[in-house]
Amino acid sequence: MLDKRQFYINGQWVAPITANDFEVINPSTEEPCATISLGSEADTNAAVTAARAAFEGWSSTPKAERLALIENLLNIYNRRSDDMAEAISLEMGAPIDMSKQQQVTSGSWHIGNFIRAFKGFEFDRPLGDHAPNDRILLEPIGVVGMITPWNWPMNQIALKTIPALATGCTMILKPSEIAPLSAMLFAEIIDEAGVPAGVFNLVNGDGLGVGTTLSGHKDVDMISFTGSTRAGTAIQKNAAATIKRVALELGGKGANIVFADASEKAVKQGVLRCMNNTGQSCNAPTRMLVQRSIYDQAVKTAAEVADAIAVGNSDQQGRHIGPVVSEAQYNKIQDLIEIGINEGARLVAGGLGRPDGLNRGYFVRPTVFADVTNQMTIARQEIFGPILSILPFDTEEEAIAIANDTDYGLTNYVQTEDSKKANRVARRLRSGMVEMNGQGRGAGSPFGGYKQSGNGREGGVWGLDDFLEVKSVSGWTPE
Ligand code: NAD
Repeated sequence: MLDKRQFYINGQWVAPITANDFEVINPSTEEPCATISLGSEADTNAAVTAARAAFEGWSSTPKAERLALIENLLNIYNRRSDDMAEAISLEMGAPIDMSKQQQVTSGSWHIGNFIRAFKGFEFDRPLGDHAPNDRILLEPIGVVGMITPWNWPMNQIALKTIPALATGCTMILKPSEIAPLSAMLFAEIIDEAGVPAGVFNLVNGDGLGVGTTLSGHKDVDMISFTGSTRAGTAIQKNAAATIKRVALELGGKGANIVFADASEKAVKQGVLRCMNNTGQSCNAPTRMLVQRSIYDQAVKTAAEVADAIAVGNSDQQGRHIGPVVSEAQYNKIQDLIEIGINEGARLVAGGLGRPDGLNRGYFVRPTVFADVTNQMTIARQEIFGPILSILPFDTEEEAIAIANDTDYGLTNYVQTEDSKKANRVARRLRSGMVEMNGQGRGAGSPFGGYKQSGNGREGGVWGLDDFLEVKSVSGWTPE
């Protein structure tokens, strides 16, 4: 069992001020695999003090120095990619090949995209020719508290730490207590890259402890949070007294609108996308809206695709999906499958209990419900497991109405070979992102949601903007 009880504060690995052991569970075996500490208020305060003390020096370093450091960090990250894949696989159950090919590379992809955006980024801008004595200075917001979830750990940590480093902020990262091992390895990478003491700090802990101390802390200027809408609401409330900036990346209930003229691969791809990472993605297309004339065939195809998805341990190679992350998630998903059945949805694949042959580990059967209505609980709540709901629709107007009838607004998907219709629908969907016909979004495109999916935009230039204050100066002498 790994002993990971230390925190990274002010450039050093330090013991917690008060011991508070917490076991990290391997979701494939239900066995503990590491011990961490849950930090106290005193540990959090020590990290905030270090970040505050480092801010003046770090924020005034030349851009080229910060750029070189991030480039070095990326090299070290790539060198340690196998260790990172193993840590993620162990802590949250992503199968090892998927961990290498998707989890780890999501981090390096974002770091590379930030390097590109940062190179061209101007922190010092004219207001315009009409006001030659005005200057707009973009400055780092200060000390940032970062609170991250377990489902795509390096994706989220890269989306927060790299723009903060680039813009000259200092930071305290509190990763998910359920999946802290990858974050601790990231702290080692930061250390090796030569990030000065105090600029990056890591304190493990839970939401009620370290998370709440950070969100209410008067010396923390911003909270960048990714996680559930429930926790986002608590953070926003707790941060209100200090008027700190709160950037939120929250849950989703994405619609995947499959028109009758969609490519014949659309249904299969939609099922696989929903089940990827065992359904634990905020942007998963969990509501498949299918036009009536192809509905029966789509349901049949979706059930076949789900039935063919293999489920297995995270340390096994191959293209299977792993367990869900925890016992709590397993139980929540089972409850929602039961609710789906009781509310009258038609179960066409999967269902309650573990897949055949697996009697230990938080494994869930890839499940498809047909004849779901948008009022059913399974169409409204984020399930965060390999569960797909299929809903029929007749007209374009109806599909848009169903897609938008949700508290969330993260990613919606459109499948049609009619490009005019695709663009028309994209404009009307109330979500921060729309992905059409299987095409992924480009490097540096902003990630974030409308409505209860949050308010921030992460990645590329928008991701840098999130960590900046805007200072407007008049009486400036052009240099
Ligand atoms: P969670 O909200 O339970 O926990 C996320 C983090 O918040 C953890 O570090 C946790 O310790 C902390 N936390 C919990 N309560 C807190 C509180 N009151 N104050 C401060 N911190 C608190 O979420 P999770 O189960 O780890 O992750 C799954 C959720 O994350 C899903 O809802 C998913 O949609 C969302 N998510 C969103 C995005 C996005 O970018 N929009 C990306 C990935 C995941």
